[in-house]
Amino acid sequence: MNILKDRFGRTFPYIRMSITDVCNFKCGYCLPNGYQVDKSDNRKFLHLDEIRRLSKCFSLLGVNKIRITGGEPTVRKDFFDIIKVLKFDSGIENIAITTNGYHLDQKAELLVKSGLTGINISMDSLNQETFKNITGHDRLPEILRGIKNLQDAGFENIKINAVLLNGINSSEKDFDQWSKFIEKNKVDFRYIELMRTGDNLEYFKKYHISSKKFKKYLNENGWIYQTFGKDSGPSLNYINPKFKGKFGIIAPYSKDFCKSCNRLRITSRGDLRLCLFGNTGINLRHLLKEDSQIDELKNLILKQMQFKKESHYLELGDTGSTKNLSKTGG
Ligand code: SAM
Ligand code: SF4
Repeated sequence: MNILKDRFGRTFPYIRMSITDVCNFKCGYCLPNGYQVDKSDNRKFLHLDEIRRLSKCFSLLGVNKIRITGGEPTVRKDFFDIIKVLKFDSGIENIAITTNGYHLDQKAELLVKSGLTGINISMDSLNQETFKNITGHDRLPEILRGIKNLQDAGFENIKINAVLLNGINSSEKDFDQWSKFIEKNKVDFRYIELMRTGDNLEYFKKYHISSKKFKKYLNENGWIYQTFGKDSGPSLNYINPKFKGKFGIIAPYSKDFCKSCNRLRITSRGDLRLCLFGNTGINLRHLLKEDSQIDELKNLILKQMQFKKESHYLELGDTGSTKNLSKTGG
C-alpha cells in the first residue's frame, strides 16, 4: 500500500476537508463581519463527485480518518449526501465533522443515523452572554440541547473545542465551569490557543494568551497527562478518574507542535494544503473530473509530500496565505 509520508518521517493517516467557506456565525477571531459573498468567484466548492473521488484516492493512500469542516459544513444542502458518500464509497473508516453546532438540537438524530464516527463542536464558553459576544449568536442553549440529544441517542465520540481568549474565557471560573461540565458528561473538552491569521492581527494582539495558565490549573487539580501513540496528533490530553470527560490543550505555538503533525488539508476549492499555514500545496481539481484519473491523482499527491515543511513558522509571524481559518477549516 502507498503511504503518505514526508521527508521528516511523519505519516499522514488523517485528512481535513473543507466543503464550503460559507458560515452563519461571526466569531471575532475568524469572520467578525460574517461570511462575505465574493461574487467574482461563484463559490464553486468541491461537488459531491469530486469529494467521492478525492476521498477514495486518500483511502488508497492509507488515510483512515477524514474530518469534514468549513466554513460551517452543515450549511451545505447536500451535507448528508456528502457524509453518505464518505461512509459508503470512500473506504475511509473514521468520518468526523467539525461544526459550530447551529441547529444541533434538531440535527442530532440525523447526525447519529448518518454513521458519523466523531463530532467536534466549537463552543467557546458555557456562559450564554460570553458565547453570544464571541460568535454573534445567542445559540448556546440550542447547542447544549444538541449535545444532550447526541448523548441520548448513544453517540460516544463528542469533542468540544474552545479558542482560549485572554480576559474572555480564560479565568479560573471558566475552567471550573468546564470542569463541572465534564465531570458529568463524557466529552473531550480542549482549549485551542488563538492563532494569528492574515485578517486577525489586532484581535490576536488583544486576546492571545498561552495555555500555560490552564496547564497549571490541570496540574493543580489532579489531572494526569496521557501519552498516546504516534498518530494521535498534536493535542495534549489529560485524564482524571473522577470525571467522565477529559481535558485537552492544543498549543500551536509550542516548540514541538509540528513534530506530531499527522494531517493534510483540502480546501473547499480543491487545493491540497500541506499545512494549515504557509503557501505550500496545489490545486487537484483537474484530476477530479473522471474516476479513471485516480492513479494520476495518487501520484501527484504522493509527489507533493516532499514539499511539506518541518514547521508552520507561525511563531515568526508567518501566516502565509491564510486570511482566516474559514478557508482552510481550522
Ligand atoms: N465552523 C466550524 C466550527 O467553527 O466548528 C468549522 C470551521 S472552524 C474554522 C474550525 C475550528 O477552528 C473552530 O473550532 C474554530 O474555533 C477554530 N478557529 C478558527 N479560527 C481560529 C484561530 N484564529 N485560532 C484558533 N482557532 C481558530
Ligand atoms: Fe464560522 Fe467556524 Fe469561523 Fe466561527 S470559527 S466564524 S463558526 S467558520
